[in-house]
Amino acid sequence: MVSHTKPCLSKEIRHCKYMKKLFFILLKRLYYTGMNKNKLKEFIKEIPKSDIHVHLDGSLRVPTLIELAKKSGVKLPSYTEAGMFDKVFKDNYKDLPDYLQGFGYSIAVMQTPENLERIAYEFVQDNIAEGVYYVEVRFAPQFHINKLMGVEEIMGAVSKGMNKAKKEHNSSKLVKEGKAPMFEYGIIACAMRAIPKGVSEYFDKFMEVHKHSSTSRVGALASYELVLSMIKARDKGYPVVGFDLAGAEAGFPAGEHRDAYALAHRNFFKKTVHAGEAYGAESIFQAITELYADRIGHGYYLFSEEMIKNRNIKDKKDFINKLVQYIADRRITIEVCLTSNMQTNPSIVKLENHSFKKMLDNKLSVAICTDNRTVSKTSVSKELELAVEHFDLSYRQLKNCMIYGLKRSFYHGTYKEKRDYVRHIIDFYESVESKYQGLLRE
Ligand SMILES: [Zn+2]
Repeated sequence: MVSHTKPCLSKEIRHCKYMKKLFFILLKRLYYTGMNKNKLKEFIKEIPKSDIHVHLDGSLRVPTLIELAKKSGVKLPSYTEAGMFDKVFKDNYKDLPDYLQGFGYSIAVMQTPENLERIAYEFVQDNIAEGVYYVEVRFAPQFHINKLMGVEEIMGAVSKGMNKAKKEHNSSKLVKEGKAPMFEYGIIACAMRAIPKGVSEYFDKFMEVHKHSSTSRVGALASYELVLSMIKARDKGYPVVGFDLAGAEAGFPAGEHRDAYALAHRNFFKKTVHAGEAYGAESIFQAITELYADRIGHGYYLFSEEMIKNRNIKDKKDFINKLVQYIADRRITIEVCLTSNMQTNPSIVKLENHSFKKMLDNKLSVAICTDNRTVSKTSVSKELELAVEHFDLSYRQLKNCMIYGLKRSFYHGTYKEKRDYVRHIIDFYESVESKYQGLLRE
C-alpha cells in the first residue's frame, strides 16, 4: 500500500508544482502584456502625430453640436450625448451612405461665422490634447454658403478659430521649453461627387439654376466654381493648401471633375481624392491619371480584382500590379483610415483582412488618419494603437506612418520651411522613441 501511495502522492505533488509554475508563467505573461499595452498607449500618446485626412464636419464635439443645435433651432434625434452616440454616431454603419447621415446634423449647425470659429478652435484643441501637431483639415465650403456667409467669411472663420488655438499652443510654456512641438495646419477644400438635396442653401440654389443639366454635370460645375473661389481665398492669405473630392463614390466617377482639378493643378494646388473606398482600382487610376492626385483618400480596394468593373481591363492582376508599382514609386501617399473603413465596409469583418497589410508589404507610402473623429468615434492615437496591435508594426513602420504624413503633406509654407518643420517633428519623435525600447519589433 505504502509503496503504491508514495509514487502517486509524489506524482500529484509534481503535477501540483507544475501547475503552480504554469500559473505563474501565465500570470507573468498577462502582467507583461497588460503592462506593454499601457506602455504602448503612453508611447503613442507621447509621439508627435499628424492627421492629413480629417473632416471638420465629422469631428465636432458632441456637447457642442447639441448646444449649437438648441441655439440655432436645429432638430436632432436626441439632445443627450449618449442619445446622439446611440442614434447617429454609431459604432457600426450599414454602408457609406449610412455613415454619411450624421453630417446633415453637423453641417446644419455650421452656418454662422461664430459657430464655425468655435468648432475649428475646439477641433485644434482636441488634436493638440492627444499630441497631433500637424493637421490638414478638410470640409466642403459650399455647404456653408448662405445669406450670412460667402466663401471668404467661411475661410476667415475657420482660419480664425484654428489660428487662435495654434497661437495659444505655440506660445505656451511647454513649447518654449521644448517639451512639445509646434502646431501647424492647412485647409483642404472638398468638392462633392454627389450633391445631397436639402443640406445647404447654396447647393439647392445651384441645382435649381442648373435644372436642365444632369446631376453629375451640376456636381462638376460646382467643383469648378469652388476652385475659382479657393484661388481667391488663397490670394487673400487663407491657408488653403489643396483639393479633395468627397462623398458617395459609386455612381459618381471622379472623371466628371477633371476640368476643376485641371484648374486647381494649373494654379499649383495639391490634390487628393477619396478613391477606392467603395469602388475598385480603376477609380484610383482615374484619380491619378485624370485628376493629378498627389495622395489617395482610403484606397481600400486597391488590391481587389473583383472590384474592377471596367471591361477594357482584361488582365486585372497585371493592371493592379502596375498601378501599385506606380503608386509606390511616385510616393503617392495613401491616407489610411482603419476604423472608418471597418464602419463603411462591414464586409471586411476583421481588421487583419484590411488591405493596409498589403500596402505595407508593397512598401507604399501610407499615413494613418482618422477620417472623422466623431462619426468614427476615434482619434489618431486610437488608430495607431489598432495598426500596431493588428499588423504587428515595427518601430520603423510606425515612424514611417507618421513621417510620410508630414513629408507628403500639403504644407502651406515654403519648401524650406516645410523641411525645417518636418525635421523639428522627427527630432521630437526620436527623442520620445529612445525612451520606449522593447515595445515593438526592431
Ligand atoms: Zn474622408
